[in-house]
Amino acid sequence: MKKIVFATNNSHKLSELRKLTDGKIEILSLSDINCHDDIPETADSLEGNALIKARWVKERYGYDCFADDTGLEVDALGGAPGVYSARYAGDQHDSVANMRLLLKNLAGLSDRKARFRTVIALIYEGDEVLMDGVVEGVITENPSGENGFGYDPVFRPDGFDVTFAEMGADQKNKISHRGRAVAKLIKYF
Ligand code: IMP
Repeated sequence: MKKIVFATNNSHKLSELRKLTDGKIEILSLSDINCHDDIPETADSLEGNALIKARWVKERYGYDCFADDTGLEVDALGGAPGVYSARYAGDQHDSVANMRLLLKNLAGLSDRKARFRTVIALIYEGDEVLMDGVVEGVITENPSGENGFGYDPVFRPDGFDVTFAEMGADQKNKISHRGRAVAKLIKYF
C-alpha cells in the first residue's frame, strides 16, 4: 500500500483523514516517522507555510507528504488575521483572546464578511501540488456555541443561521474549508 505522511501530530486531523481515505493509502503522522522537529512556519502566506512543512518532510525524511495551513480572512481588516490566525493576540495561541481581539477590531463595522481558507501542499510521486478549500461567512457580533475550536463561535457560514460552534462536527466537516480542501486531496489520490 502507498504511504504518505501528513505533516501534523493533530490526532483529530489524522483520524479524519484516515477515515476519509478509507484504507486506500496509509497515512503516517510526524511521530510515526520519528520527526519531532519544530518545523518553522515563517512564510507570509498559507501556501508558503504549507509548502515549507511538506518540503521539510520530503527533503529530510524522504517521504511523500502533504501539509495544511488555515487562516481566517476578514475583508474589513484587509484579510487579517489570515496566516497569523493562531497567534493573532500573541504567541500563546489563545483562541479566546484571539476572538476577543477580532471582535474589538470589528466593533462598529457593518462589513463583517470573512472566509476560512485551508491550503494543502502535496508532494506525491514527483509532483508538487497546491489545493485549497474555502467557506464564506460573516463574523458575528458575539460568540455563540460550544463546539469546535478556534474562531468557530464567531463564524457563521453563509446560508446558515448558526455559528460553526453551534453545528455538529459532521455538518461542519461537510461545508468547511478543511473538508473542501480534503475532498480535493482525496479526489487527487
Ligand atoms: P491550522 O493551520 O489548522 O493550525 O489553523 C491555524 C489557526 O486558524 C488555528 O489556530 C485557529 O485559530 C484557526 N482555525 C483553523 N481552522 C479552524 C476552524 O475550523 N475553526 C475555527 N478556527 C480555525
